[in-house]
Amino acid sequence: MGFDLDQIKPCAMCGKGIGHAGPVFYRARIEQLVIDDRAVARETGLQMMLGGNVAIARALSPETDFAKPFRTAEVLLCGTCGIEPMPLAVLLDTQEETDL
Ligand SMILES: [Zn+2]
Repeated sequence: MGFDLDQIKPCAMCGKGIGHAGPVFYRARIEQLVIDDRAVARETGLQMMLGGNVAIARALSPETDFAKPFRTAEVLLCGTCGIEPMPLAVLLDTQEETDL
């Protein structure tokens, strides 16, 4: 996964250019997912039917997806902001969503 010039955008936290703090910057893909409680319930039911044997239930289960993507964004952070603590939910709220 390279990085082309058309992918440049301002730092998601400070809004400055991603290179203003030096040559190192960060790219992160943030995904917010929602647990599929129906899939979890089906899996749990199968496990109970099999006497609690999780390994056999996993082998027999058709379930492969226990959470659904809700929001996704790709962010760039400058070298300074990349080492700062920031809740992912807050960062995600400031971004336009990208295609899943
Ligand atoms: Zn920054």
